[in-house]
Amino acid sequence: AGIPAASVAPTFKVNSPNVTYTDAEIRSKYTYRTTSVETDASGNFVATPKETPYEFKVERKVPKMGMMLVGWGGNNGTTVTAGILANRRGLDWETKEGPRQSNYYGSVVMGSTLKLGADAKTSKEINIPFHNILPMVHPNDLTIGGWDISKMNLADAMDRAQVLEPTLKAQVKKEMVDMVPLPSVYYPDFIAANQEDRADNVLEGSKACMAHVEQIQTDIRQFKEKNGLDKVIVMWTANTERYADLVPGVNDTADNLLKAIEQGHEEVSPSTIFAVACILEGTPFINGSPQNTFVPGAIELAEKHNAFIGGDDFKSGQTKMKSALVDFLINAGIKLTSIASYNHLGNNDGKNLSSQKQFRSKEISKSNVVDDMVEANSVLYKKGEHPDHCVVIKYMPAVADNKRALDEYYAEIFMGGHQTISLFNICEDSLLASPLIIDLVILAEMMTRIQWKSTEGDFKHFHSVLSVLSYMLKAPLTPPGTPVVNSLAKQRAALTNIFRACVGLEPESDMTLEHKLF
Ligand code: NAD
Repeated sequence: AGIPAASVAPTFKVNSPNVTYTDAEIRSKYTYRTTSVETDASGNFVATPKETPYEFKVERKVPKMGMMLVGWGGNNGTTVTAGILANRRGLDWETKEGPRQSNYYGSVVMGSTLKLGADAKTSKEINIPFHNILPMVHPNDLTIGGWDISKMNLADAMDRAQVLEPTLKAQVKKEMVDMVPLPSVYYPDFIAANQEDRADNVLEGSKACMAHVEQIQTDIRQFKEKNGLDKVIVMWTANTERYADLVPGVNDTADNLLKAIEQGHEEVSPSTIFAVACILEGTPFINGSPQNTFVPGAIELAEKHNAFIGGDDFKSGQTKMKSALVDFLINAGIKLTSIASYNHLGNNDGKNLSSQKQFRSKEISKSNVVDDMVEANSVLYKKGEHPDHCVVIKYMPAVADNKRALDEYYAEIFMGGHQTISLFNICEDSLLASPLIIDLVILAEMMTRIQWKSTEGDFKHFHSVLSVLSYMLKAPLTPPGTPVVNSLAKQRAALTNIFRACVGLEPESDMTLEHKLF
Protein backbone atom coordinates (compact mmCIF):
# COMPACT_ATOMS: atom_id res chain seq x y z
CA ALA A 1 0.00 0.00 0.00
CA GLY A 2 1.00 3.61 -0.55
CA ILE A 3 3.87 3.08 -2.99
CA PRO A 4 4.06 6.39 -4.83
CA ALA A 5 3.50 5.93 -8.57
CA ALA A 6 6.52 8.09 -9.40
CA SER A 7 8.95 5.58 -7.95
CA VAL A 8 7.69 2.62 -9.99
CA ALA A 9 7.16 4.32 -13.36
CA PRO A 10 9.83 3.82 -16.04
CA THR A 11 12.43 6.55 -16.29
CA PHE A 12 13.57 7.95 -19.62
CA LYS A 13 16.63 9.12 -21.48
CA VAL A 14 16.76 11.68 -24.29
CA ASN A 15 18.24 10.43 -27.53
CA SER A 16 19.68 13.54 -29.16
CA PRO A 17 23.11 14.85 -30.19
CA ASN A 18 22.26 17.95 -28.11
CA VAL A 19 21.93 16.02 -24.88
CA THR A 20 24.70 14.27 -22.97
CA TYR A 21 24.58 12.28 -19.77
CA THR A 22 27.46 11.68 -17.38
CA ASP A 23 27.21 10.16 -13.91
CA ALA A 24 27.26 13.65 -12.45
CA GLU A 25 25.30 15.75 -14.96
CA ILE A 26 22.79 16.05 -17.75
CA ARG A 27 23.80 18.68 -20.31
CA SER A 28 21.57 20.00 -23.03
CA LYS A 29 22.03 22.45 -25.86
CA TYR A 30 18.73 24.18 -26.31
CA THR A 31 17.34 26.69 -28.79
CA TYR A 32 14.87 29.07 -27.16
CA ARG A 33 12.40 30.17 -29.85
CA THR A 34 10.44 33.38 -29.29
CA THR A 35 8.82 36.08 -31.39
CA SER A 36 10.22 39.56 -31.35
CA VAL A 37 7.73 42.31 -32.23
CA GLU A 38 8.42 45.79 -33.57
CA THR A 39 6.08 48.56 -34.63
CA ASP A 40 6.60 49.91 -38.14
CA ALA A 41 6.15 53.52 -39.35
CA SER A 42 2.43 53.06 -39.96
CA GLY A 43 1.88 51.64 -36.49
CA ASN A 44 1.57 48.01 -37.54
CA PHE A 45 3.40 45.18 -35.85
CA VAL A 46 6.24 43.28 -37.45
CA ALA A 47 6.76 39.88 -35.82
CA THR A 48 10.14 38.24 -36.26
CA PRO A 49 10.93 34.70 -35.12
CA LYS A 50 13.96 34.78 -32.84
CA GLU A 51 16.30 32.00 -31.73
CA THR A 52 18.52 32.18 -28.66
CA PRO A 53 20.92 29.31 -28.00
CA TYR A 54 21.38 28.23 -24.39
CA GLU A 55 23.08 25.39 -22.64
CA PHE A 56 21.66 23.81 -19.49
CA LYS A 57 23.40 21.68 -16.91
CA VAL A 58 21.57 19.60 -14.32
CA GLU A 59 23.33 18.03 -11.36
CA ARG A 60 22.06 14.46 -11.15
CA LYS A 61 22.92 13.56 -7.58
CA VAL A 62 19.80 13.87 -5.45
CA PRO A 63 20.88 15.40 -2.13
CA LYS A 64 19.89 14.34 1.36
CA MET A 65 17.53 17.11 2.16
CA GLY A 66 15.85 18.84 5.05
CA MET A 67 12.75 21.02 5.17
CA MET A 68 12.47 23.50 8.03
CA LEU A 69 9.09 25.12 8.56
CA VAL A 70 8.53 28.39 10.36
CA GLY A 71 5.16 27.82 12.06
CA TRP A 72 5.82 24.07 12.25
CA GLY A 73 3.21 23.60 14.99
CA GLY A 74 0.40 25.16 12.93
CA ASN A 75 -2.27 23.47 10.83
CA ASN A 76 -0.13 23.31 7.69
CA GLY A 77 3.04 22.38 9.57
CA THR A 78 1.51 19.46 11.44
CA THR A 79 -0.53 18.25 8.47
CA VAL A 80 2.37 18.18 6.02
CA THR A 81 4.56 16.45 8.63
CA ALA A 82 1.99 13.75 9.38
CA GLY A 83 1.32 13.34 5.66
CA ILE A 84 4.97 12.73 4.84
CA LEU A 85 5.45 10.31 7.75
CA ALA A 86 2.36 8.39 6.64
CA ASN A 87 3.50 8.23 3.02
CA ARG A 88 6.98 7.16 4.05
CA ARG A 89 5.53 4.21 5.95
CA GLY A 90 2.83 3.50 3.34
CA LEU A 91 0.15 3.78 6.00
CA ASP A 92 -3.53 3.16 5.54
CA TRP A 93 -6.29 3.88 8.04
CA GLU A 94 -10.01 3.34 8.60
CA THR A 95 -12.57 6.08 8.05
CA LYS A 96 -16.37 5.98 8.11
CA GLU A 97 -16.17 5.75 4.31
CA GLY A 98 -13.82 2.75 4.37
CA PRO A 99 -10.02 2.43 4.36
CA ARG A 100 -7.88 5.27 3.01
CA GLN A 101 -4.29 5.11 1.80
CA SER A 102 -1.48 7.63 2.01
CA ASN A 103 -1.05 9.65 -1.15
CA TYR A 104 0.31 12.90 -2.49
CA TYR A 105 -2.86 14.15 -4.20
CA GLY A 106 -2.75 17.89 -4.80
CA SER A 107 0.99 17.94 -5.46
CA VAL A 108 1.94 18.77 -9.05
CA VAL A 109 5.28 17.04 -8.58
CA MET A 110 3.89 13.85 -7.06
CA GLY A 111 0.34 13.71 -8.38
CA SER A 112 0.45 14.96 -11.96
CA THR A 113 1.93 13.77 -15.23
CA LEU A 114 3.32 15.50 -18.26
CA LYS A 115 3.43 14.45 -21.88
CA LEU A 116 6.83 13.09 -22.82
CA GLY A 117 5.92 12.57 -26.49
CA ALA A 118 4.09 10.22 -28.81
CA ASP A 119 4.69 6.48 -29.16
CA ALA A 120 6.97 5.81 -32.16
CA LYS A 121 4.66 3.10 -33.51
CA THR A 122 1.13 4.09 -32.52
CA SER A 123 1.50 7.89 -32.09
CA LYS A 124 -0.34 7.53 -28.77
CA GLU A 125 0.62 10.02 -26.05
CA ILE A 126 3.21 8.83 -23.56
CA ASN A 127 2.85 10.56 -20.18
CA ILE A 128 5.27 10.35 -17.29
CA PRO A 129 4.95 11.37 -13.63
CA PHE A 130 6.03 14.99 -13.29
CA HIS A 131 8.50 13.83 -10.65
CA ASN A 132 10.46 11.91 -13.27
CA ILE A 133 11.20 14.74 -15.71
CA LEU A 134 14.36 15.65 -13.74
CA PRO A 135 16.17 13.87 -10.88
CA MET A 136 14.13 15.31 -8.00
CA VAL A 137 14.12 14.63 -4.27
CA HIS A 138 11.29 12.34 -3.14
CA PRO A 139 9.18 13.88 -0.35
CA ASN A 140 9.31 10.61 1.60
CA ASP A 141 13.04 11.28 2.04
CA LEU A 142 12.70 14.76 3.55
CA THR A 143 13.95 15.31 7.08
CA ILE A 144 11.54 17.72 8.77
CA GLY A 145 12.13 20.33 11.45
CA GLY A 146 11.37 23.93 12.25
CA TRP A 147 10.34 26.70 14.58
CA ASP A 148 7.15 27.83 16.28
CA ILE A 149 6.29 30.43 18.90
CA SER A 150 4.23 27.65 20.51
CA LYS A 151 6.23 24.87 22.15
CA MET A 152 3.53 22.24 21.85
CA ASN A 153 4.94 18.99 20.44
CA LEU A 154 3.79 18.07 16.94
CA ALA A 155 1.50 15.23 18.07
CA ASP A 156 -0.53 17.52 20.35
CA ALA A 157 -0.37 20.33 17.80
CA MET A 158 -1.81 17.93 15.21
CA ASP A 159 -4.77 17.36 17.56
CA ARG A 160 -5.11 21.10 18.04
CA ALA A 161 -5.30 21.52 14.25
CA GLN A 162 -8.37 19.23 13.89
CA VAL A 163 -7.50 18.23 10.34
CA LEU A 164 -6.63 14.52 10.14
CA GLU A 165 -8.64 11.39 11.04
CA PRO A 166 -8.01 9.94 14.54
CA THR A 167 -7.15 6.53 13.02
CA LEU A 168 -4.36 8.12 11.02
CA LYS A 169 -3.16 10.33 13.85
CA ALA A 170 -2.89 7.32 16.15
CA GLN A 171 -0.31 5.77 13.81
CA VAL A 172 2.01 8.79 13.53
CA LYS A 173 1.67 10.18 17.05
CA LYS A 174 4.54 8.25 18.53
CA GLU A 175 6.97 9.75 16.05
CA MET A 176 5.51 13.22 16.29
CA VAL A 177 5.48 13.50 20.06
CA ASP A 178 9.26 13.83 20.01
CA MET A 179 9.16 16.60 17.44
CA VAL A 180 9.26 19.92 19.27
CA PRO A 181 9.63 23.23 17.43
CA LEU A 182 12.66 25.43 18.07
CA PRO A 183 11.95 28.78 19.77
CA SER A 184 11.16 31.50 17.26
CA VAL A 185 11.32 35.21 16.66
CA TYR A 186 8.17 36.94 18.01
CA TYR A 187 7.44 40.63 17.50
CA PRO A 188 3.83 40.90 18.74
CA ASP A 189 3.08 43.96 16.66
CA PHE A 190 3.25 41.93 13.43
CA ILE A 191 0.61 39.26 14.08
CA ALA A 192 -2.87 39.54 15.59
CA ALA A 193 -3.12 40.21 19.33
CA ASN A 194 -5.31 37.09 19.58
CA GLN A 195 -2.19 34.92 18.98
CA GLU A 196 -0.46 36.02 22.16
CA ASP A 197 -1.67 33.13 24.31
CA ARG A 198 0.19 30.58 22.21
CA ALA A 199 3.52 32.44 22.27
CA ASP A 200 5.38 30.39 24.90
CA ASN A 201 8.45 29.46 22.85
CA VAL A 202 10.12 32.68 21.84
CA LEU A 203 13.64 34.03 21.58
CA GLU A 204 14.40 36.88 23.93
CA GLY A 205 13.76 40.36 22.51
CA SER A 206 10.68 41.75 20.81
CA LYS A 207 12.22 43.77 17.99
CA ALA A 208 14.72 43.09 15.23
CA CYS A 209 18.33 42.32 16.14
CA MET A 210 21.33 40.57 14.63
CA ALA A 211 21.29 38.03 17.46
CA HIS A 212 17.99 36.70 16.07
CA VAL A 213 19.41 36.42 12.56
CA GLU A 214 22.45 34.60 13.91
CA GLN A 215 20.36 32.26 16.03
CA ILE A 216 18.30 31.20 13.00
CA GLN A 217 21.52 30.61 11.05
CA THR A 218 22.85 28.49 13.91
CA ASP A 219 19.59 26.52 14.03
CA ILE A 220 19.82 25.74 10.30
CA ARG A 221 23.48 24.70 10.60
CA GLN A 222 22.83 22.47 13.61
CA PHE A 223 19.81 20.84 11.97
CA LYS A 224 21.94 20.09 8.92
CA GLU A 225 24.78 18.64 10.97
CA LYS A 226 22.63 16.63 13.32
CA ASN A 227 20.78 14.96 10.47
CA GLY A 228 23.71 14.67 8.06
CA LEU A 229 21.96 16.77 5.40
CA ASP A 230 23.42 18.20 2.21
CA LYS A 231 20.80 20.91 1.90
CA VAL A 232 17.97 22.60 3.74
CA ILE A 233 15.04 24.65 2.46
CA VAL A 234 13.18 26.97 4.84
CA MET A 235 9.50 27.79 4.37
CA TRP A 236 7.39 30.42 6.16
CA THR A 237 4.05 28.81 6.99
CA ALA A 238 3.58 30.83 10.17
CA ASN A 239 0.84 33.36 10.77
CA THR A 240 0.14 36.10 8.31
CA GLU A 241 1.87 39.27 9.44
CA ARG A 242 0.82 42.84 8.83
CA TYR A 243 2.63 44.63 6.03
CA ALA A 244 5.89 46.28 7.01
CA ASP A 245 5.95 49.97 6.08
CA LEU A 246 8.45 50.66 3.33
CA VAL A 247 10.68 53.32 4.80
CA PRO A 248 13.52 54.92 2.83
CA GLY A 249 16.80 54.25 4.62
CA VAL A 250 15.33 51.25 6.49
CA ASN A 251 14.28 48.47 4.17
CA ASP A 252 14.91 49.90 0.71
CA THR A 253 18.40 48.50 0.15
CA ALA A 254 20.35 45.48 1.35
CA ASP A 255 22.77 47.59 3.40
CA ASN A 256 20.00 49.67 4.96
CA LEU A 257 18.07 46.55 5.90
CA LEU A 258 21.09 45.04 7.66
CA LYS A 259 21.67 48.34 9.43
CA ALA A 260 18.00 48.54 10.44
CA ILE A 261 18.25 45.04 11.95
CA GLU A 262 21.37 46.02 13.88
CA GLN A 263 19.61 49.14 15.17
CA GLY A 264 16.45 47.27 16.14
CA HIS A 265 14.10 49.13 13.81
CA GLU A 266 10.44 48.32 14.44
CA GLU A 267 9.52 47.96 10.76
CA VAL A 268 11.53 44.73 10.36
CA SER A 269 9.19 41.75 10.63
CA PRO A 270 10.03 38.28 11.97
CA SER A 271 9.54 36.83 8.48
CA THR A 272 12.11 39.25 7.10
CA ILE A 273 14.52 38.21 9.87
CA PHE A 274 14.11 34.59 8.71
CA ALA A 275 14.57 35.62 5.08
CA VAL A 276 17.77 37.52 5.89
CA ALA A 277 19.16 34.64 7.98
CA CYS A 278 18.49 32.18 5.15
CA ILE A 279 19.98 34.46 2.51
CA LEU A 280 23.15 34.92 4.56
CA GLU A 281 23.28 31.18 5.15
CA GLY A 282 22.74 30.39 1.44
CA THR A 283 19.57 28.48 2.27
CA PRO A 284 16.59 28.91 -0.08
CA PHE A 285 13.68 30.61 1.68
CA ILE A 286 10.05 30.56 0.54
CA ASN A 287 7.26 32.68 1.95
CA GLY A 288 3.88 30.92 2.07
CA SER A 289 2.01 33.85 3.61
CA PRO A 290 0.87 37.08 2.02
CA GLN A 291 2.86 39.76 3.86
CA ASN A 292 5.69 41.73 2.24
CA THR A 293 8.52 39.73 3.79
CA PHE A 294 10.59 40.47 0.72
CA VAL A 295 11.02 44.20 1.12
CA PRO A 296 13.26 45.67 -1.61
CA GLY A 297 16.30 45.42 0.70
CA ALA A 298 15.72 41.68 1.20
CA ILE A 299 15.49 41.06 -2.54
CA GLU A 300 18.68 43.02 -3.13
CA LEU A 301 20.41 41.07 -0.37
CA ALA A 302 19.36 37.78 -2.00
CA GLU A 303 20.70 38.95 -5.36
CA LYS A 304 23.98 39.98 -3.77
CA HIS A 305 24.41 36.58 -2.14
CA ASN A 306 23.05 34.55 -5.09
CA ALA A 307 20.57 33.05 -2.66
CA PHE A 308 17.21 31.71 -3.77
CA ILE A 309 13.96 33.20 -2.55
CA GLY A 310 10.34 32.59 -3.54
CA GLY A 311 6.87 33.77 -2.56
CA ASP A 312 4.27 34.92 -1.70
CA ASP A 313 1.24 33.15 -0.20
CA PHE A 314 0.24 29.57 -1.01
CA LYS A 315 -2.28 29.42 -3.84
CA SER A 316 -4.49 26.64 -2.57
CA GLY A 317 -8.24 27.05 -3.12
CA GLN A 318 -10.19 30.13 -4.07
CA THR A 319 -7.36 31.90 -5.88
CA LYS A 320 -6.30 28.78 -7.74
CA MET A 321 -9.85 28.43 -9.08
CA LYS A 322 -9.83 32.12 -9.91
CA SER A 323 -6.61 32.05 -11.88
CA ALA A 324 -7.95 29.10 -13.89
CA LEU A 325 -11.51 30.39 -14.38
CA VAL A 326 -10.63 33.98 -15.26
CA ASP A 327 -8.05 32.70 -17.74
CA PHE A 328 -10.78 30.59 -19.34
CA LEU A 329 -13.44 33.35 -19.42
CA ILE A 330 -11.25 36.07 -20.84
CA ASN A 331 -9.58 33.74 -23.33
CA ALA A 332 -13.03 32.59 -24.41
CA GLY A 333 -13.79 36.19 -25.30
CA ILE A 334 -16.26 36.64 -22.44
CA LYS A 335 -16.13 39.99 -20.67
CA LEU A 336 -15.82 39.36 -16.97
CA THR A 337 -17.20 42.42 -15.17
CA SER A 338 -17.03 41.50 -11.47
CA ILE A 339 -15.74 38.94 -9.01
CA ALA A 340 -17.12 38.79 -5.48
CA SER A 341 -15.06 36.46 -3.28
CA TYR A 342 -16.30 35.62 0.17
CA ASN A 343 -14.69 33.18 2.63
CA HIS A 344 -15.31 31.93 6.10
CA LEU A 345 -13.03 29.66 8.07
CA GLY A 346 -12.58 28.63 11.68
CA ASN A 347 -8.94 27.63 12.07
CA ASN A 348 -6.17 29.65 13.71
CA ASP A 349 -5.33 31.26 10.35
CA GLY A 350 -8.91 32.59 10.27
CA LYS A 351 -8.59 33.82 13.86
CA ASN A 352 -5.40 35.70 12.99
CA LEU A 353 -6.99 37.13 9.84
CA SER A 354 -9.94 38.46 11.84
CA SER A 355 -7.59 41.27 12.78
CA GLN A 356 -7.74 44.12 10.26
CA LYS A 357 -4.02 44.64 9.54
CA GLN A 358 -3.39 40.95 8.91
CA PHE A 359 -6.55 40.69 6.77
CA ARG A 360 -5.24 43.61 4.72
CA SER A 361 -2.12 41.57 3.77
CA LYS A 362 -4.39 38.77 2.55
CA GLU A 363 -6.69 41.17 0.73
CA ILE A 364 -3.77 42.60 -1.22
CA SER A 365 -2.39 39.20 -2.21
CA LYS A 366 -5.84 37.98 -3.30
CA SER A 367 -6.66 41.12 -5.27
CA ASN A 368 -4.16 41.37 -8.08
CA VAL A 369 -4.54 37.90 -9.48
CA VAL A 370 -6.49 38.82 -12.61
CA ASP A 371 -4.51 41.90 -13.68
CA ASP A 372 -2.30 40.34 -16.35
CA MET A 373 -5.16 38.43 -17.98
CA VAL A 374 -7.31 41.58 -18.20
CA GLU A 375 -4.44 43.65 -19.50
CA ALA A 376 -3.66 41.11 -22.22
CA ASN A 377 -7.11 41.45 -23.78
CA SER A 378 -7.47 44.88 -25.41
CA VAL A 379 -10.52 43.64 -27.35
CA LEU A 380 -12.65 43.31 -24.20
CA TYR A 381 -11.10 45.95 -21.95
CA LYS A 382 -10.13 49.54 -22.66
CA LYS A 383 -6.82 50.72 -21.23
CA GLY A 384 -7.18 51.00 -17.45
CA GLU A 385 -10.56 49.23 -17.42
CA HIS A 386 -10.84 46.48 -14.85
CA PRO A 387 -13.49 44.10 -13.48
CA ASP A 388 -14.80 45.01 -10.00
CA HIS A 389 -13.18 42.69 -7.46
CA CYS A 390 -14.02 42.35 -3.78
CA VAL A 391 -12.56 39.97 -1.17
CA VAL A 392 -14.17 39.22 2.20
CA ILE A 393 -12.85 36.86 4.92
CA LYS A 394 -14.79 36.04 8.10
CA TYR A 395 -13.79 33.95 11.14
CA MET A 396 -16.28 31.21 11.97
CA PRO A 397 -14.77 28.91 14.64
CA ALA A 398 -17.34 26.11 14.16
CA VAL A 399 -16.17 25.18 10.64
CA ALA A 400 -12.54 24.80 11.85
CA ASP A 401 -10.16 23.95 8.96
CA ASN A 402 -13.09 23.29 6.58
CA LYS A 403 -12.92 26.59 4.81
CA ARG A 404 -15.87 27.80 2.76
CA ALA A 405 -15.27 29.99 -0.26
CA LEU A 406 -18.18 31.47 -2.17
CA ASP A 407 -17.42 33.22 -5.42
CA GLU A 408 -19.64 34.98 -7.88
CA TYR A 409 -18.28 35.69 -11.35
CA TYR A 410 -20.45 38.08 -13.34
CA ALA A 411 -19.76 38.53 -17.03
CA GLU A 412 -21.13 40.24 -20.09
CA ILE A 413 -21.84 37.92 -22.99
CA PHE A 414 -23.02 38.30 -26.60
CA MET A 415 -25.23 41.31 -27.38
CA GLY A 416 -25.63 42.64 -23.85
CA GLY A 417 -26.54 39.39 -22.12
CA HIS A 418 -25.13 38.31 -18.74
CA GLN A 419 -23.60 35.16 -17.32
CA THR A 420 -23.39 34.58 -13.59
CA ILE A 421 -21.25 31.74 -12.28
CA SER A 422 -21.51 30.90 -8.60
CA LEU A 423 -18.96 28.65 -6.94
CA PHE A 424 -19.13 27.15 -3.49
CA ASN A 425 -15.82 25.59 -2.64
CA ILE A 426 -15.49 23.59 0.61
CA CYS A 427 -12.27 21.91 1.60
CA GLU A 428 -9.84 21.35 4.43
CA ASP A 429 -7.51 24.25 3.90
CA SER A 430 -4.44 22.50 5.25
CA LEU A 431 -4.97 19.47 3.03
CA LEU A 432 -4.72 21.79 0.04
CA ALA A 433 -1.73 23.74 1.37
CA SER A 434 0.38 20.75 2.48
CA PRO A 435 1.04 19.37 -1.02
CA LEU A 436 1.97 22.89 -2.12
CA ILE A 437 4.59 23.02 0.62
CA ILE A 438 6.01 19.76 -0.74
CA ASP A 439 6.02 21.05 -4.32
CA LEU A 440 7.65 24.33 -3.38
CA VAL A 441 10.40 22.61 -1.42
CA ILE A 442 11.13 20.00 -4.08
CA LEU A 443 11.04 22.43 -6.99
CA ALA A 444 13.15 25.04 -5.18
CA GLU A 445 15.74 22.38 -4.38
CA MET A 446 15.72 21.25 -8.02
CA MET A 447 16.40 24.83 -9.12
CA THR A 448 19.56 24.86 -6.99
CA ARG A 449 20.95 22.07 -9.22
CA ILE A 450 20.19 23.70 -12.58
CA GLN A 451 22.59 26.05 -14.32
CA TRP A 452 22.51 27.77 -17.71
CA LYS A 453 24.83 29.61 -20.02
CA SER A 454 24.54 31.47 -23.28
CA THR A 455 27.06 31.03 -26.10
CA GLU A 456 29.50 33.22 -24.23
CA GLY A 457 30.19 33.24 -20.53
CA ASP A 458 30.14 30.68 -17.76
CA PHE A 459 27.43 28.59 -16.27
CA LYS A 460 25.32 30.35 -13.67
CA HIS A 461 22.14 29.78 -11.71
CA PHE A 462 18.69 31.18 -12.44
CA HIS A 463 17.87 34.57 -10.92
CA SER A 464 17.58 34.65 -7.11
CA VAL A 465 13.83 35.25 -7.27
CA LEU A 466 12.35 31.91 -8.28
CA SER A 467 9.33 33.00 -10.31
CA VAL A 468 9.18 29.45 -11.69
CA LEU A 469 7.34 28.59 -8.44
CA SER A 470 4.42 30.87 -9.40
CA TYR A 471 1.93 28.03 -9.92
CA MET A 472 1.88 27.37 -6.17
CA LEU A 473 1.77 31.03 -5.10
CA LYS A 474 -1.01 33.60 -5.00
CA ALA A 475 1.05 36.72 -5.46
CA PRO A 476 4.11 35.46 -7.33
CA LEU A 477 7.31 37.28 -6.61
CA THR A 478 9.28 37.95 -9.80
CA PRO A 479 12.73 39.43 -10.42
CA PRO A 480 12.55 43.25 -10.07
CA GLY A 481 11.16 44.85 -13.23
CA THR A 482 9.80 41.61 -14.73
CA PRO A 483 6.10 40.90 -15.30
CA VAL A 484 3.94 38.81 -12.98
CA VAL A 485 2.09 35.94 -14.66
CA ASN A 486 -1.06 34.83 -12.81
CA SER A 487 -2.68 32.60 -15.40
CA LEU A 488 -2.52 29.08 -14.00
CA ALA A 489 -2.10 27.49 -17.44
CA LYS A 490 0.82 29.76 -18.32
CA GLN A 491 2.46 29.16 -14.93
CA ARG A 492 2.30 25.40 -15.42
CA ALA A 493 3.55 25.66 -18.99
CA ALA A 494 6.55 27.72 -17.82
CA LEU A 495 7.42 25.16 -15.17
CA THR A 496 7.12 22.09 -17.40
CA ASN A 497 8.78 23.66 -20.42
CA ILE A 498 11.77 24.94 -18.45
CA PHE A 499 12.26 21.46 -16.99
CA ARG A 500 11.89 19.94 -20.47
CA ALA A 501 14.48 22.37 -21.84
CA CYS A 502 16.91 21.16 -19.18
CA VAL A 503 16.85 17.73 -20.83
CA GLY A 504 16.81 19.14 -24.37
CA LEU A 505 13.11 18.61 -25.10
CA GLU A 506 10.93 21.08 -27.00
CA PRO A 507 8.03 22.77 -25.17
CA GLU A 508 4.96 20.60 -24.74
CA SER A 509 2.98 21.15 -27.91
CA ASP A 510 -0.68 20.29 -28.30
CA MET A 511 -0.67 20.73 -32.07
CA THR A 512 -0.79 16.92 -32.60
CA LEU A 513 -0.23 17.35 -36.32
CA GLU A 514 0.46 13.62 -36.48
CA HIS A 515 -3.26 13.12 -35.99
CA LYS A 516 -4.36 15.87 -38.32
CA LEU A 517 -2.16 15.63 -41.42
CA PHE A 518 -2.52 12.36 -43.28
P1 NAD B 1 -1.81 28.29 11.78
O1 NAD B 1 -2.23 29.51 12.49
O2 NAD B 1 -2.46 27.01 12.13
O3 NAD B 1 -0.25 28.07 11.93
C1 NAD B 1 0.66 29.10 12.02
C2 NAD B 1 1.68 28.75 13.09
O4 NAD B 1 2.67 29.77 13.08
C3 NAD B 1 1.12 28.69 14.50
O5 NAD B 1 1.45 27.45 15.08
C4 NAD B 1 1.81 29.85 15.22
O6 NAD B 1 2.06 29.55 16.56
C5 NAD B 1 3.07 29.99 14.42
N1 NAD B 1 3.75 31.30 14.42
C6 NAD B 1 3.23 32.55 14.42
N2 NAD B 1 4.21 33.47 14.38
C7 NAD B 1 5.38 32.79 14.35
C8 NAD B 1 6.73 33.18 14.29
N3 NAD B 1 7.08 34.45 14.27
N4 NAD B 1 7.66 32.21 14.26
C9 NAD B 1 7.33 30.88 14.27
N5 NAD B 1 6.06 30.47 14.35
C10 NAD B 1 5.09 31.41 14.38
O7 NAD B 1 -2.01 28.65 10.23
P2 NAD B 1 -2.00 27.68 8.96
O8 NAD B 1 -3.41 27.33 8.62
O9 NAD B 1 -1.01 26.59 9.16
O10 NAD B 1 -1.50 28.70 7.84
C11 NAD B 1 -0.18 29.18 7.90
C12 NAD B 1 0.02 30.35 6.98
O11 NAD B 1 -0.19 29.93 5.63
C13 NAD B 1 -0.94 31.52 7.22
O12 NAD B 1 -0.28 32.74 7.11
C14 NAD B 1 -1.90 31.39 6.09
O13 NAD B 1 -2.49 32.63 5.71
C15 NAD B 1 -1.00 30.86 5.00
N6 NAD B 1 -1.78 30.23 3.94
C16 NAD B 1 -2.49 29.09 4.18
C17 NAD B 1 -3.23 28.52 3.16
C18 NAD B 1 -4.01 27.26 3.35
O14 NAD B 1 -4.67 26.81 2.45
N7 NAD B 1 -3.93 26.62 4.48
C19 NAD B 1 -3.26 29.14 1.92
C20 NAD B 1 -2.53 30.30 1.72
C21 NAD B 1 -1.78 30.81 2.74
